[in-house]
Amino acid sequence: METNNKEGCALCDATWGEYYREIDGEKMLFCCNICADIFGNMVAEIKRRTGWNSIDYVELVGNYSSGRNCKARNGGSEYKYYFRTYSDGRLMKFEDR
Ligand SMILES: [Zn+2]
Repeated sequence: METNNKEGCALCDATWGEYYREIDGEKMLFCCNICADIFGNMVAEIKRRTGWNSIDYVELVGNYSSGRNCKARNGGSEYKYYFRTYSDGRLMKFEDR
């Protein structure tokens, strides 16, 4: 799975940390365990709502305080959504957009 963050953390693009977690069978780079938790929860929610087995690409726009407007792609399908999380990584809000 790819995201629009190419420099560092798959979720926030920070380059100060190095924390790896396997998401969907792929080793992905995050800055910390919280970003990995957030990303993992987000991926689970996308799959639950779309019925997809896997996700090819995620575009994330926004940040922790304002929430994130995102697009996910799987093959030719696209899914748009918005989400915010608590500071511990649990989902606060998740909406189809
Ligand atoms: Zn991060």
